[in-house]
Amino acid sequence: MTSLANPVVKDIRALQLKKERARTGLFLAEGLKLVADAIQEGWPLKVLAFAAKVRQQPMVQRTVEAALAAGALVIEVNEAVLEKISRRDNPQMVVAVFEQRTLPLDAVDLAGTTVWVALETVKDPGNLGTIIRTVDSVGGAGVILVGDTTDPFALEAVRATMGSIFHVPLAVADKAGFLAWTRRTGVSVVGTHLKGAVDYRCPAYAEPMVLLMGNEQSGLPDDLAAACATLVKIPMAGRADSLNLAVATGVMLYEIRRSRLGSAR
Ligand code: SAM
Repeated sequence: MTSLANPVVKDIRALQLKKERARTGLFLAEGLKLVADAIQEGWPLKVLAFAAKVRQQPMVQRTVEAALAAGALVIEVNEAVLEKISRRDNPQMVVAVFEQRTLPLDAVDLAGTTVWVALETVKDPGNLGTIIRTVDSVGGAGVILVGDTTDPFALEAVRATMGSIFHVPLAVADKAGFLAWTRRTGVSVVGTHLKGAVDYRCPAYAEPMVLLMGNEQSGLPDDLAAACATLVKIPMAGRADSLNLAVATGVMLYEIRRSRLGSAR
């Protein structure tokens, strides 16, 4: 039984801090199924921690074996420790520390891909996690984080992805790098804007493409808006000024992918 004073537990808890995630390149994921899936998909696992009370569960035992085979440290902890690690009551009984994975935008190969969602300075971890999950849901190609964004590996963002953090490639670029990449590749960029001249249901969206979304407060800056082949608007009928960023992204993705999505499974 490992206590709060254990140095490994201290290191895991420290991953709540952005500077520790940046320093170590690690992040925390919670939940047996998604941890087991991530190990199976070859995500580099560092530590697996589980509650004593689930020790006998066959899936926990299989996951422990897989973690040991992957060379990870495996520790059994009590629930008080899991509460502290997760900062919540009723924590998940299995948590794991993985290496972060992002790719520089120049490493993105667009050939044969679908739709990439580029997010300019997204600030809300819940929005970012929800968007990663939605990109996964529609078979999108990945997410491009442009500029100074919230950390996709923060616990709140990872939670909101519901496991999609392990399935959706994340590319990063500053604004100048993103603009240079769009010019170099010639990829079609569709922006969303409250002043967009085109109804979002009108264009014939050809893939591969980039869907560019603006910041929660300030929307798309002029230089990014100018780089878009089309600026579309989702009509607003009531008194709200705009949609939430993640909702707007979901509406757009389902429209872009409408004809390519099969019937519901
Ligand atoms: N005050 C900001 C503005 O003036 O743009 C609102 C930003 S909105 C909360 C965040 C992002 O969601 C926008 O930059 C845009 O990408 C997208 N968005 C939200 N509502 C939209 C709409 N009705 N049409 C097109 N895009 C929308």
